Amino acid sequence: MHTHPVMSLVPRAGIESGHVQPQLLGMPAHDRYGRRIDYLRVSLTDRCNLRCVYCMPSADMPFLPRPELLTNDELLMVLRAAAAAGFRKIRLTGGEPTLRHGIVELVRAIKAIPGIEHIAMTTNGLRLRALAGPLQAAGLDRVNISIDSLDPVTFRQMSRGGSLDEVWAGIWAAEEAGLHPMKLNAVIVRGMNDDEVVRLAELTRCHPWEFRFIEVMPLSGVAGLAEEGVVSTAELIARIETHVGPLEPDGQSAGDPARRYRIPGAPGTLGFISAVTDPFCATCNRMRLTADGRLHLCLLRDDELDLRAAVRAGASLDELEQRIRHAVALKPWGHGLPEGFQPTLRGMAQLGG
Ligand code: SAM
Ligand code: SF4
Repeated sequence: MHTHPVMSLVPRAGIESGHVQPQLLGMPAHDRYGRRIDYLRVSLTDRCNLRCVYCMPSADMPFLPRPELLTNDELLMVLRAAAAAGFRKIRLTGGEPTLRHGIVELVRAIKAIPGIEHIAMTTNGLRLRALAGPLQAAGLDRVNISIDSLDPVTFRQMSRGGSLDEVWAGIWAAEEAGLHPMKLNAVIVRGMNDDEVVRLAELTRCHPWEFRFIEVMPLSGVAGLAEEGVVSTAELIARIETHVGPLEPDGQSAGDPARRYRIPGAPGTLGFISAVTDPFCATCNRMRLTADGRLHLCLLRDDELDLRAAVRAGASLDELEQRIRHAVALKPWGHGLPEGFQPTLRGMAQLGG
C-alpha cells in the first residue's frame, strides 16, 4: 500500500520538463477550471492515539515506516516551494498532528516561511492541554477540535478508547491560549451519535464556536460504515429545527466547504459539511500533502504526485515549485461519488480530512 505508483493521470513528461511560464512564478496558482488553489492541508503523520470508527479499522492498521515520512527539513522545503507556488494557508492534520515529534518547533519554522499567512491545525485535542499555549506562541493561528459526542461512553465507543474529559481540557486550553475563533467538528454516524445533534448544536448558544457537522465519507477502510451511517445535512437541519425553530443562514466564506447557519440569538454558528449529499467541488481551493510526501489532488480521488522522490533526488526549490504548479493545473474538477467511484488508495488518517 505504501509503494503505489504515482497515478497515471498526472502527465509525468510535462512535470519532468519543468516548463512553467516565468511570469507565473510567485503568483497564486489556478487550476484549469479557474479555481484559485492556495490552501494546503498537510498530514504530519498517519499515526494516532485514537481509532475513530469512521476513520480507521479497529486493528491491523498499516502505518508508514518512519523513513517513508518526510523529515522536518524535507517538509519545510516542500512548504517553501508551495508558498512560492501561491499557497497561503496551511492546515496541519494527520493522523494526529500533535504526535509529530517537535511539533512546536515545526509550527514556528512553517510560520517563518515567506508567503505563509495562516497556520491552522485539526486535532482530536487530547494533547492540547499541554500544547495549546506553546503552539499559539510558536505561531499557530487556529484549531479545529474533533468532538463527536458529549456522552463519555459514546465518545469512548466512537473513538475506541478516548477520554472526553481530556478533549474538554484541550478545548479550554485552546480557548485560554487564544486560538480563536474555534471550530469543533463532529462526524455524525447513524445509530451512534445522531441522537445528540441537538445537544451538540446547542453548545453554540453559550459559546462563540462554530460547531461543524460532517457527513461520513467513504474513504478506504470505512466505506461500509459510510454507506449505512451517512446522515444527510438536510436531515440534520430538520432535526435541529424541530427543537430550536428555524435556523438563520449565516453565509459561507470563500473556499469554506461548510454551509453556515445560526440558532437565532446564539453567539456561535453551525456548519454543515456535506461532501456526499451536496458536494462543494466548484469552490474547492485546496490540495493535500501526505506524510510520505505525495500531493493528493482531491480528497475523494486517488490521483497523486510524488514530491518526496523529487526532494530526495535533489530537486531545487524552483523545480519543486514547478511540480506543484503542474499538480494544481491538473487537479480534477470534483469527486466521483455520485457516479459510484470510491477512492481506495488511502484512508482518512493518511489524508487528514
Ligand atoms: N486526528 C485529528 C482529528 O481527528 O481531528 C486530525 C485528523 S482527522 C482524519 C481530520 C478530520 O477528519 C476530523 O474532523 C475527523 O472527524 C474527520 N474524519 C475522519 N474520518 C472521516 C470520514 N470517514 N468521513 C468524514 N470525516 C472524517
Ligand atoms: Fe485519529 Fe483523527 Fe482519525 Fe480519530 S479521526 S482516528 S482522532 S486521525
